[in-house]
Amino acid sequence: MEKKQKAIVVGAGISGMSIACLLAKKNFEVTVVEKNSIYGGRGRVLKSNDFVFDMGPSWYLLPEVFDDFFKLFNEDINDYLDLVKLDPSYRVFLPKGKVVNISTDIEENIKIFESIEPGSGENFKKYLEKSEKLYKVLVGRLFYKDLTSRKVLMDRSLLKEFKGLSASDLFSNYEKLCSKYFKTEELKRIIQYGVALLGSHPEDAPGLYAMMSYADYKQGVFYPKGGIGKLFTAIYKLSKKLGVEYKFNFDVTSFNYSDNKIVSVISTDGQKEDSDIVIMNGDYAHTELKILEDKYRTYDEKYWSNKKIGASAFIVYLGVNKKLKNLEHHNLFLDRDWKDHFKQLSDSDIWPEKPAYYVCAPSKTDPTVAPSGCENLFFTVPIPAGVEDNDSMRIKYFDKIIKHFEQLIGEEIKYNIIYKKIFTVNDFIQDFHAYKGTALGLANNLKQTGFLRVGYQSKKLNNLYYTGQYVHPGSGLSACVASARILSDKITDDLNEK
Ligand SMILES: Cc1cc2nc3c(=O)[nH]c(=O)nc-3n(C[C@H](O)[C@H](O)[C@H](O)COP(=O)(O)OP(=O)(O)OC[C@H]3O[C@@H](n4cnc5c(N)ncnc54)[C@H](O)[C@@H]3O)c2cc1C
Repeated sequence: MEKKQKAIVVGAGISGMSIACLLAKKNFEVTVVEKNSIYGGRGRVLKSNDFVFDMGPSWYLLPEVFDDFFKLFNEDINDYLDLVKLDPSYRVFLPKGKVVNISTDIEENIKIFESIEPGSGENFKKYLEKSEKLYKVLVGRLFYKDLTSRKVLMDRSLLKEFKGLSASDLFSNYEKLCSKYFKTEELKRIIQYGVALLGSHPEDAPGLYAMMSYADYKQGVFYPKGGIGKLFTAIYKLSKKLGVEYKFNFDVTSFNYSDNKIVSVISTDGQKEDSDIVIMNGDYAHTELKILEDKYRTYDEKYWSNKKIGASAFIVYLGVNKKLKNLEHHNLFLDRDWKDHFKQLSDSDIWPEKPAYYVCAPSKTDPTVAPSGCENLFFTVPIPAGVEDNDSMRIKYFDKIIKHFEQLIGEEIKYNIIYKKIFTVNDFIQDFHAYKGTALGLANNLKQTGFLRVGYQSKKLNNLYYTGQYVHPGSGLSACVASARILSDKITDDLNEK
């Protein structure tokens, strides 16, 4: 019997666990090594004092990506998750005290748009048509293609996939595209919030982000009961069913090499795992700069310092011993001049003065994530990667955000806090080896999209591959699952070519 090939996956984030499943199905012997003591990476779960906090992602968008992933294994995701569609999808706090709830009903949303910008209802419908077209081409047909591969890019049939879309749809910036449909700042903010939460300026982000509005308005915002952590548990369980082994508390710090290949991965404390192929789910820049020997780097320090790194985040997990009246499950605080916020995110190394931010209150719809009569709150504020981080800055920033939050919801919470944890730049570095403390890897901007992203494979080591938020399609849970699928196909192609 032919000996199974051994794949080592470094990192048990969503992409690492997804590629582990795919390779196990292809008859690899797969071991995932993970520096932390639990799976999930940015999507880990924090349990404390009967609160259950999702530590990172909280929006379950593009459900078909996860459905399709499970179908690859003849499994039904609904056997793992109890998904509910949120209604309202989310609440937006706008300037001058205006608050709107985005509904699952398009007609309701048209009324909201008309109330902010008379006459915008028709344009909203046209914008959604454009968004749907973009979605169907990008997610329906291009999401699982390696747009960084020369072979894929030279494939002339790819051009057909873009039918119905103009060059300006794909390559203009998001701000320009939205300005064709909406005049007011308020409506643009409502539409562009996703990009803002990624810490990207809509002028730097590609127009193709408009496809997210189709996901948002037409498909809806879902939530797995118990929290997004349940998605990670589902993929972990699936991988275990397929025979994947896990080694936790295994922090890879070096490799052994032979013939331009990695033959084993070594941890800080001297543990060793032999490998035929290595898939890195951990931070791409950290791997290149800190784990690989210099001669095996594909990209040098200058390359990384010229890249736009995705924002970091100031995150607060709060347990509050009362119920809050003016919140929904997802809440966007977009009331202040966000151009200043973007400027401070990209041009400076200070903590943004008056940021846009997001608060998740899952206890509004799910009683299992907080003790009775309490609220589970998760604040995320995009801040620049690489910014100085120390205790006094954290305390000042926390006070600033809470004060603003209390003003907007019209209720005090500072004397009701019974659990509090801050997680920001230095924690991203310490827990994930995140380059400059980035929350999101490589920024998704016009110059770093599609074929302009970093490659799936090392140019120096024949058996080193990458998956996750640095590679195409980028950050976000669904994109990370897509990256694992693209990589799995690529590994099969590479083996067949040998
Ligand atoms: C605050 C926040 C909110 C977000 N919100 C959303 C959202 O609502 N919806 C959405 O779709 N996306 C969201 N995202 C983005 C999404 O969470 C990420 O894009 C995705 O989880 C990244 O997955 P990954 O597998 O690429 O990497 P990670 O989750 O970072 O996993 C990498 C793993 O590798 C491990 N590792 C690193 N180095 C080593 C090493 N040397 N040895 C061993 N192990 C190592 C790490 O510990 C980690 O477990 C959010 C992200 C953040 C940070």
